[in-house]
Amino acid sequence: MAKIIDGKAIANALQDRLKEQASYFAMRFGRKPKLVVIMVGEDPASAVYVRNKIRACENVGINSESYRLPETTEQSELESLIEKLNKDETADGILIQLPLPSRLDAKKLIPLIDPKKDVDGFSAENLGALVLDDKRALYSCTPLGIIQLILSTGIDLTGKHAVVVGRSNEVGKPVALMLLQHNATVTICHSKTVDLGAVTRTADVLVVAVGREKLITGDMVKEGAVVIDVGINRDANGKLCGDVDFDSVAEKCSFITPVPGGVGPMTIAMLMTNTMKAAKRNVQ
Ligand code: NAD
Repeated sequence: MAKIIDGKAIANALQDRLKEQASYFAMRFGRKPKLVVIMVGEDPASAVYVRNKIRACENVGINSESYRLPETTEQSELESLIEKLNKDETADGILIQLPLPSRLDAKKLIPLIDPKKDVDGFSAENLGALVLDDKRALYSCTPLGIIQLILSTGIDLTGKHAVVVGRSNEVGKPVALMLLQHNATVTICHSKTVDLGAVTRTADVLVVAVGREKLITGDMVKEGAVVIDVGINRDANGKLCGDVDFDSVAEKCSFITPVPGGVGPMTIAMLMTNTMKAAKRNVQ
């Protein structure tokens, strides 16, 4: 039976370490690091995510400023707000909570955020920096958290076969690049992959980021693999679940993340880490 990777505990320990850095920063520079969160509309899931991010800021000692804008907000108003925040020397990190209402175009807004303040790591500059192994850049939070969870098992990734299911710009592609940075041999699977199970069965480390309940079942996993479930879905009873059929997979693998309590808390902890990193760079 697999050991459960306790994302919540690892994230809490990380936040505790960040508290010390945030308090040193405040003492040294006469202000706390600051994260600005922009949310448009009333999407209930987004509201929960924003609340969790603000709570984490309070816990760590990071100032948070949130803009809760009405559904009717225009693209041009968001452009002006980003421009204003880019110039605000005390705004160390800026993030736009996604998804935006369909009228608005996030793809045109994210490039406007100063890459040094892009704590989500979604901009072309930061993604490009990841490709180029530039460690000063801000990498995207969920992939950073996934790597921490994998390393927490004690596994040496060098030479291991890591399979990533999903090729999004936010999770699949960046996590594949980070696994490569750790010298894994990496395969990326996606919606057009033929015989997914044949590939996932060869994985020493399996990262699943698709958004489909029970996509990965026990027969698709190698004995002793490390399995990271990124998916967030609701089952037929409305209960939160991942992409991995937990019971059948946990019987075979060595380590597995639960949903909830795995990748989710780590994403927020890495957002705090990125905000701290951006703040330190901002005052240099
Ligand atoms: P996305 O929709 O952008 O990408 C999904 C990917 O899955 C695509 O690349 C697609 O090719 C692939 N895919 C679809 N069907 C497939 C199939 N049958 N077999 C193999 N691959 C298939 O999603 P995303 O933004 O990468 O997010 C993926 C999941 O992770 C979602 O459930 C999302 O909610 C969750 N998520 C969780 C966190 C967290 O902090 N826990 C953060 C980001 C995303």
